[in-house]
Amino acid sequence: AYWPASGELRVENLSARYSPEGPEVLHQLSFHIKSGERIGVVGRTGSGKSSLALSLLRCIYTTGEVIYDGIPTSSMNLDTLRSSITIIPQVLELISGTLRQNLDPFGEVDDLTLNDSLRAAGLTALQDYFTEDEDKITLDTTISGGGSNLSVGQWQIITLARALVRRSKLLILDEATSAIDYKTDTMIQTSLRHELTGATVITIAHQLQTIMDSDRIASVLFSIIECH
Ligand code: ATP
Ligand code: MG
Repeated sequence: AYWPASGELRVENLSARYSPEGPEVLHQLSFHIKSGERIGVVGRTGSGKSSLALSLLRCIYTTGEVIYDGIPTSSMNLDTLRSSITIIPQVLELISGTLRQNLDPFGEVDDLTLNDSLRAAGLTALQDYFTEDEDKITLDTTISGGGSNLSVGQWQIITLARALVRRSKLLILDEATSAIDYKTDTMIQTSLRHELTGATVITIAHQLQTIMDSDRIASVLFSIIECH
């Protein structure tokens, strides 16, 4: 059974800081996101968007509650939490090893499924447009530390493929500040829409175009603007 089954998220009085004695970077946020909603998050540089993403996985010091499908993360094994909710972070976070190891660290999934996920995430299409045959990324391609031998668009697509492999019901996308080209961005948005139907998607956006089709848009002040 995959958890969370529905991808509903409730946040209550969430405050966050990067060190026990450090300043609060988020202060007493409360909001509710329904299963399957697509939320866009906007806000100025330094306003706390990435910190919010990290807080939702309890990767920094938090107080208050983050509750998925009614289960508070304070009562949860953090490894379970972090392997179930997928975050596509703003900074590179791929492990050194083959692409296969990145997609499936515990060797639980067959190659056919892994390749399907890569195709669905858009890697194949991206390669067909831009890559010579000998440069094509396969499951045996070695990803160097931090994914530095990949373009931003490529590693975002690979992380997306990982979400598909895991069948994540909740995905947090923290857009890279460095501009991804329009075609790659469109490809990522399209695969998100087609392959993760029913999943809750929180997109932190630097370009308004990315989140234009969201159900709701939140500013980091968390006044929520209804879109429909
Ligand atoms: P951007 O649009 O540039 O990505 P952001 O909205 O994601 O900005 P955050 O990265 O969440 O902003 O930063 C919020 C606050 O947290 C800032 O004051 C920042 O200095 C602080 N901060 C971010 N990362 C760290 C860190 N690793 N250690 C300490 N403070 C941090
Ligand atoms: Mg950020």
